Amino acid sequence: MKIARETLQFILEVCKSSAPLEFAGMLSARGDIITEVVVVPGTESSDESAVMELFMLPNIHTVGSVHSHPSGNITPSGADLELFSKKGIVHIIAGAPFDSGSWKCYDKDGVQVKLEVVDYEFKEENDFESGE
Ligand SMILES: [Zn+2]
Repeated sequence: MKIARETLQFILEVCKSSAPLEFAGMLSARGDIITEVVVVPGTESSDESAVMELFMLPNIHTVGSVHSHPSGNITPSGADLELFSKKGIVHIIAGAPFDSGSWKCYDKDGVQVKLEVVDYEFKEENDFESGE
């Protein structure tokens, strides 16, 4: 799995602007490249409740999740690990100061995995929801 550079930059920016509140979203991919963040409305400041709402979203095809830890400790919490195991295959946690070195990616077992950042050419595509 890989992530588009612009998508990662968006994630870091929105996490930073959300701090000290937590940002949470779902990740959607084209092929094996994560290109979209589905923003979860109603994100609470509490880490656990943000993630809970994240996983209650129905019927969105996603490959994983992203959320921020404004504290800067980007180790998954117990609640994070439980939820990672339920849905998705890649889970990003971004922490303060939200720069290119302050995020990590974990698999469904909470094991840190490498997520390659790639340049991806975004095209005009209006068929995002069709065919499902
Ligand atoms: Zn968390």
